Amino acid sequence: MDEFELIGRYFSRPANSPAVVAGVGDDGAVLRPAAGRELVTVIDTMVAGTHFPTTMRAEDIGYRAVAINLSDIAAMGAVPRWMTLALTLVEAEPWWLEAFASGLYEAAAEWGVALVGGDTTKGDQLVVSVQIEGDLEPGTAVYRSGAKPGDTIFVTGTVGDAAAGLSRFSRDSGDDYLVRRFARPTARIGVGRALAGVANAAIDISDGLAGDLRKILDASGAGAELDLQRLPLSKELLAAVGRAQALDYAMRGGDDYELCFTVPESALPAGIVAQVAAIGRITSQPGLVCRDGETVVVIDEAGYRHF
Ligand code: ADP
Ligand code: MG
Repeated sequence: MDEFELIGRYFSRPANSPAVVAGVGDDGAVLRPAAGRELVTVIDTMVAGTHFPTTMRAEDIGYRAVAINLSDIAAMGAVPRWMTLALTLVEAEPWWLEAFASGLYEAAAEWGVALVGGDTTKGDQLVVSVQIEGDLEPGTAVYRSGAKPGDTIFVTGTVGDAAAGLSRFSRDSGDDYLVRRFARPTARIGVGRALAGVANAAIDISDGLAGDLRKILDASGAGAELDLQRLPLSKELLAAVGRAQALDYAMRGGDDYELCFTVPESALPAGIVAQVAAIGRITSQPGLVCRDGETVVVIDEAGYRHF
């Protein structure tokens, strides 16, 4: 199968969107942005064996490549519109490409994103790179740098599941709840949209809550106090690894692709209350201080320090 045939067979589903003038097939895609809106562009690359297990299901690899980019779009507060795919394949196996494309298009269809182009190459390692463009009303993008003392810190969904899932991953574990939380992150586009023009700061959690919240604090010149007893932990995670390990996965594990954001409590949009948990507040004192009942835990780069 040559490259032309491969693209035609697996990556040429029609876009069916007025925002796509010309999609896959020419030297470039021609897009029609809505008048007056700002564009947001994100890209994330996944290398097999580094960012996901080499034995992960092809449909999950396709789904995840889109979902982790949707998560960046959500963290900015944007609506996802167009995407491109750069695919480096070791081998072009039809069964694999079929399954990969089905997962990729499934994630794209959930949020109405059109695949409008890409690049296909051969290499020694499977590498999947997805770029997504989204848009939003001018001036409403949510940055890492806007957190203000007094803001409440919220997180979507549950945290820690994905790191546990990755640690339990095996060729036959694809249907396990925690493994699916790693393989198929939930894109929080709805929450992100509700936060556009409203939240003071947001980030998606790819490296663990502690490290990613720290990026908000550094960018905003602020500190934070977290109440570890308020972290949303799934019953599946608690049952699988117990509370101490669950907290560690949540704080330092990564790959959850949930959103962490800060907003004055009174400004939290009513429509997203059920999808988020308040876990702490922004302070003017720099640093990240975590309380777990009577125990005060200061998180440093290396992990926990108890006092
Ligand atoms: P060029 O030689 O101009 O770089 P290609 O032969 O690489 O073009 O690609 C032909 C068309 O197929 C282009 O429209 C390109 O965007 C698209 N394309 C290539 N690979 C992919 C892919 N993996 N997914 C979607 N579209 C792709
Ligand atoms: Mg060309």
